[in-house]
Amino acid sequence: MTDRVVIPIAEHRYDAALPHVPAQPAAPDGLALDARGRRLQDLRISVTDRCNFRCTYCMPKSVFDKDYAFLPHASLLSFEEIARLVRVFVAHGVEKVRLTGGEPLLRKDVERLVAMLAAIHTPGGTPLDLTLTTNASLLARKAVALREAGLRRITVSLDGMDDAVFRAMNDVDFPVADVLAGIAAAERAGLAPIKVNMVVKRGANDAQIVPMAAHFRGTGHIVRFIEFMDVGASNGWRMDDVLPSAEVVRRIHETFPLEPVGANYPGEVAQRWRYRDGGGEIGVISSVTQPFCSDCSRARLSTEGRLYTCLFATAGHDLRALLRGGFDDEQIAASVGHLWSRRADRYSELRSAQTAGLRRIEMSYIGG
Ligand code: SAM
Repeated sequence: MTDRVVIPIAEHRYDAALPHVPAQPAAPDGLALDARGRRLQDLRISVTDRCNFRCTYCMPKSVFDKDYAFLPHASLLSFEEIARLVRVFVAHGVEKVRLTGGEPLLRKDVERLVAMLAAIHTPGGTPLDLTLTTNASLLARKAVALREAGLRRITVSLDGMDDAVFRAMNDVDFPVADVLAGIAAAERAGLAPIKVNMVVKRGANDAQIVPMAAHFRGTGHIVRFIEFMDVGASNGWRMDDVLPSAEVVRRIHETFPLEPVGANYPGEVAQRWRYRDGGGEIGVISSVTQPFCSDCSRARLSTEGRLYTCLFATAGHDLRALLRGGFDDEQIAASVGHLWSRRADRYSELRSAQTAGLRRIEMSYIGG
């Protein structure tokens, strides 16, 4: 008997509408607003749908096995196409760009893309806030090249300090020590601040919350504890597996007293807490228990150029068809503006028994 789960992910993945291109393109004014008055300020870009980890909550082996059909190279947006779209999004108000995946450092020569994006400025003349989320498996080798290409800061994922727990979470037997070596290399290269993401899954790694806090206290690195989310269709999500962020804060506070800190900017995803003794800060991302849809300013660009206006969207908009279909930047900008103006998504606020059955896109494809 095999416990292989077969889910028709490819069908979900290819669901995309050809975007409408307004006949009279209006020029972007840097202040695109959606149907709920939310700005378009952040763009997350999945540069590859491949990953060398098989985290049980993201790319479980039972689905992403040797038979899984990852996208062929020709389907991926080229670096030039990505940079062209980023310029369009920046014209609409995007200031922050995050490269993700899949594992972004697996994309060949990703530092060349970083250099191209680092050269893009907002209409006001400021460089983009450019960052990247990585599992750090290749970071020790790539940190200097990334910094030299213009990357300023980085987020590393690490789901525990205990080697056996972490190896079980990534499911490819990857050791904690190598992630820590990647973090050290990033620090030496001058990438700062370094944020460390820990997905908390009750019963799997929640005993690692306090050890993670203890390890990174006083280092200047900021651990962010993320509630296990119901993204995708393959991770077997159940509400019972979610440990509410309030509980994360309570547990850390018992050992290392905390106090709340205000947000850095409106729409910040993490709620910030600092150690009362000056040992630095942590963040909690409570996407399940305290949804933050009301000021969500994020758009996501999939590996093959589909625009998703929500992490939990069921369909995307095929911007690659416009790029490769001879449309000019003005038309693509008008199309993006039109799409954003109609955006009304607020999945996390509506999450319920009804939404549980909806088809969703895998995080590795849409970009975490
Ligand atoms: N491979 C890179 C990495 O490991 O950071 C980037 C992609 S990964 C999808 C981005 C982030 O999403 C990681 O921090 C990961 O832990 C988080 N993530 C993936 N699946 C998740 C889920 N079901 N709930 C919450 N966070 C999740």
